Amino acid sequence: MSNARVNEITDFSEYAGIAVFVQHQHGKVHPVSIELIGEATRLAQKAGSPSYAVIFGNKIDEIIDAISHYGVDRIFYYDHELFVTYSTDAYTKIMCEFIRSQKPEVVLFGATSFGRDFAPRVAARIGTGLTADCTALEFDEQDRKLMQTRPAFGGNLMATIICPDNRPQMATVRPGVMRKSECVETQSPVVKITPELSEQEIVAKTIRIVADKIKTVSLAEADIIVSGGRGIGDESGFALIKKLADVLGGAVGASRAVVESGWIAPSHQVGQTGQTVRPKLYVACGISGAVQHVVGMSESDCIIAINKNPNAPIMKLAHLAITGDVHKVIPELIEQLESAKAEETC
Ligand SMILES: Cc1cc2nc3c(=O)[nH]c(=O)nc-3n(C[C@H](O)[C@H](O)[C@H](O)COP(=O)(O)OP(=O)(O)OC[C@H]3O[C@@H](n4cnc5c(N)ncnc54)[C@H](O)[C@@H]3O)c2cc1C
Repeated sequence: MSNARVNEITDFSEYAGIAVFVQHQHGKVHPVSIELIGEATRLAQKAGSPSYAVIFGNKIDEIIDAISHYGVDRIFYYDHELFVTYSTDAYTKIMCEFIRSQKPEVVLFGATSFGRDFAPRVAARIGTGLTADCTALEFDEQDRKLMQTRPAFGGNLMATIICPDNRPQMATVRPGVMRKSECVETQSPVVKITPELSEQEIVAKTIRIVADKIKTVSLAEADIIVSGGRGIGDESGFALIKKLADVLGGAVGASRAVVESGWIAPSHQVGQTGQTVRPKLYVACGISGAVQHVVGMSESDCIIAINKNPNAPIMKLAHLAITGDVHKVIPELIEQLESAKAEETC
């Protein structure tokens, strides 16, 4: 990115603040935005500058009220009737206006399909760089660079990318990798702006929104995930994984190998090309621990691995490594958990 063209304003001292673009739909804030607010307030403390939440919508006072309890220093709320549905043209125009007027040093977006459409357009219009799909961020107070880490070369190594010649420094961040911001009692001040926007400026229009008929699994929200890999043998092995997940009150995850074999739907896949998760408990059953899987679950609070090979990479990562056959260990675990539950209810 060091060769990127220099943007309109090159005096970096004019830039301050860590901004997060807040994504919402059907009255709900996307969880990644709450995660990014937490990250922005942390980075802002290091940078010694304010944190901002930027949100577009129309008559969304309830959402603004909810956002105001996450400890951000200021909320910029752009209210316009053309923001009822997402439009790349309208959103890009007004986001560029926000950047030009407030000059944030860093701008963060969720790496959702929305963020992946919107953020590159804004970066190109402003003339700055964008690091997509980051899994970690750090702020270097000395030279005021955002260290943006993401998997590279097929996930075989982690690359830390900087944007030395342009401002703001922009990144999209994968859902589920950062910790959610804590709710606070105090409320953030809100700057409400009615932007100038006309329908003629919107070339691509949303005609209607059709709900996805395919049932997706929200692993990012789950506190407990039991995942199955090739070691479970075949498709029927997922009955065992599901039973353990049910007993624990968790969701079912999977490695890409089993998704590609057609044993389970792609929405269950954890990893670089699946979902990133950070549950309280992750149980990896018959999963080797390839780097592309690990990048999606290594931040879990507690990892239990069940594998017949004690030298499998997942066994080194796990907080508790059980060497054994999944077909023997899992039924034993289920039995013990069920009898412990029965004792509890006595
Ligand atoms: C660009 C790219 C992106 C990728 N993205 C992803 C991704 O998002 N997610 C992902 O998971 N992978 C991804 N992969 C694939 C990844 O590299 C691995 O191939 C995959 O994770 C392996 O899945 P697995 O662990 O289930 O299978 P294997 O690697 O075959 O491991 C099976 C494990 O089960 C154990 N085992 C076998 N039998 C038993 C038994 N009876 N009891 C207990 N243990 C047993 C074995 O010892 C072994 O450790 C990606 C690869 C590439 C190149």
